[in-house]
Order: sequence, then C-alpha cells, then structure tokens
Amino acid sequence: SSFWSHVEMGPPDAILGITEAYKKDPDSRKVNLGAGAYRDDNGKPYVLNCVRQADQRLIDKQLDKEYLPISGTAEFCERSIKLALGDDSQVIANGSNATVQGISGTGSLRIGAAFLNSFFPGNKVVYLPIPSWGNHTPIFKHARLDVKSYRFYDPNTCGFDFKGAMEDISKIPEGSIILLHACAHNPTGVDPNPQQWAEMSALIKKKNLFPFLDMAYQGFASGDINKDAAAVRMFVNDGHEIALAQSFAKNMGLYGERAGAFTVVTKSKEEAAKVLSQIKILIRPMYSNPPLHGARIVNEILGDKELRMEWLKEVKGMADRIISVRTKLRENLKKEGSSRNWQHITDQIGMFCFTGMTPQHVERLTKDFHIYLTKDGRISMAGVTSKNVEYLAHAMHQVTK
Ligand code: PLP
Repeated sequence: SSFWSHVEMGPPDAILGITEAYKKDPDSRKVNLGAGAYRDDNGKPYVLNCVRQADQRLIDKQLDKEYLPISGTAEFCERSIKLALGDDSQVIANGSNATVQGISGTGSLRIGAAFLNSFFPGNKVVYLPIPSWGNHTPIFKHARLDVKSYRFYDPNTCGFDFKGAMEDISKIPEGSIILLHACAHNPTGVDPNPQQWAEMSALIKKKNLFPFLDMAYQGFASGDINKDAAAVRMFVNDGHEIALAQSFAKNMGLYGERAGAFTVVTKSKEEAAKVLSQIKILIRPMYSNPPLHGARIVNEILGDKELRMEWLKEVKGMADRIISVRTKLRENLKKEGSSRNWQHITDQIGMFCFTGMTPQHVERLTKDFHIYLTKDGRISMAGVTSKNVEYLAHAMHQVTK
C-alpha cells in the first residue's frame, strides 16, 4: 500500500472537459461554445494589437526579472483601480482604497475571501446569485466561508428576476456578504438596469450587507469601460464600503498572463493602510508575490495615451463583434422557421448567452451536430462567427422545434 491508495479519482472540470471532448471530435463542422475565451471571426484566439505593442516595448526596455512586492506593482494597482472607479474618484483622491495586484480575477477573489474570513466582523456567509460563475462557490468555501444564494435569473423570461432578487436580498441576515457581478453576468448575460441597480444598492445599504463586486468583463459588455463600471461606481457613490475583484483576462485578452487586482474601499487613508498591511500578511504564505509580465503589459497600456486609445478601440471591437453575432443568430433562427421567442439572445450581454435550452437539447446538439457547450444551455458567444452562425441556428432549431 502507498500513502495515497485511499485517493479516489476526482471528476474533471466541467468546462475544461467539454474542450477535451471537442478536441477529440474529428468532424469538420464541430464548434466549441464551452470555453469563455474570445475568438475572432475565424474562430482563432485573438491577441490584441495593443498587447503586442506593449510586449515589444517591454522587450525593448530590457527589464530585469526581480521579485515584485507582495502587493504587486504600485503603479499597476493605481491604474487598475482608476479604471474601475474613474479618474475623478474621491476614494482614490483620499487614498481610502487598499488595492493589491492579484492572480487575475480568480486570485483576486481568493484574496478577498481570505481577507473576509480573517477580518469580516459580521455574518461570514457569502450570498451568490442563482446561478453564478461555477468557481465562486469553491473559491469561498476554500477560504472557509459559508455560501448561500439569492434569486437572480428568471427561466421564464430568460431575464433578470428583479422581484425575486429584491425579496431574497431583503431576507438576508443583516451584516452578511453579498456577491454581485458588476457587469455581463456569467453564465446568464443578464444584468440589472441602472434603476434596478439603484434599488438594489439602497436595499443592500439598508440591510447593512457588505457588497463584494466581481468585475471580470469591464468593457466587454457594452464596449464602453465607463458604462460597464457604472454599478461599481454607483455603489461607491452610495457610500458602500465595497470589495472589488478585477480581471484583465477578457478585456485585454490576457487570460494566461493572470493579471488582476483586489481592492477594499475603506472609510479613510489610515484604515486602508491597516487593511493593506493585513492583506499582504495573507498573501505572503499563499504565493509570496504576484507574476510580473501580465501586470507590466496592463500598466504599459493603461499608462500610455496611444496604447490606451488603441485598447479602447479593440475592446469595443470585441464587444461589437459579439453583439453582431447575437443579432445574426436570432435572425437565422427566424429564417430557419423557429417559432420560439429568442429575444433574450440579443437582450443579454457580454460573453455568454443563456439560451434556455435543456440538458436534453444540449446533448442532441453535441451528439448530432458536434456543437459543444455546457449542459445548462450556456453558449459562449465568443465562439460564434459569421461562418458558423447559420449552422448553429439550424442545429438549435432542429433540437428545439
Ligand atoms: N469572475 C467571473 C464572473 C468570471 O466569469 C471569470 C472568468 O471566467 C472570473 C471571475 C475570473 O477569471 P480569471 O481568473 O481568468 O481572471
């Protein structure tokens, strides 16, 4: 016997498993709509031009590979939080934010979870929307926080269940933690409108809940970084002390570079300094300090007028392509003769479309049409192109008619 004879085989990751199956399929018509990574109109991974240029500038600078501080590059942290809160943010002017560089969005959420577990004075339970990104529950549980939920998505309308969300939030015990997707909710593509956000913010304030905002898609939803940051800025302006996880995976296409940031907005500069000191103490034994290169790229882009302009154009380009294939998918479903109401395809925003298809529909899509997606009927719109949209519409109509 060995030390590990008791270890049983764990299940494969739901989304990575889909990509594996897709790779093995020899059919030339196959389409992968599982992975949440942007593809160009030829279905190829896309490296942003501004990223290529920033990369080249970094090579030309012949920088060293020394360790970063525990909290990462200070300049990167400043530029990240400015991107989220806006150039005229009072919080940043006052220095009342504690911001660290995180290992993309996931790592930033995990730091936040660790900080809340150690220091949150209230009810250490995180309330997640139903459904939420599949990694939220494991991340918070891994940090020994309890996880509960509130209604968010309405399967009848394929839209936001505002009434259900407000009812559930009003029942959350005071002093708990609530997680909110800042924009482009994953997996549903359903976001509250500004009026609904305002009412949610007021209720969350009244109930003294602590809002943890996860912003993995700034710019990716509407194509406008300011518009997509509106909920985060509203919460800060309404006087919430928020936690914020940011990711540059999607909006800069830096997936594997793992660039992100975690922020706690506090009441004063002194409080922020104390919070930052404790976050650093939590990070040190986890991974000592964050990786260099991705943050250097982000910093180069955000800090240079020309590269930043190019980036804003390119994020809008990605968002616009997705918005346009949404329209094409809907049009083609109509052309196919589908009598179902597919309006939610164009109402939803961001990388994903929660189609309302059942696990049985999805199974047939994969088996009969070689189209790969998660069982919940979520399509990664980033995998839809002008070349495969007709085939996809045809297949969707065949399995749902
Ligand atoms: N949060 C949400 C809602 C996401 O959809 C994702 C990525 O899919 C992330 C966070 C984190 O991604 P990453 O760790 O690659 O930045």
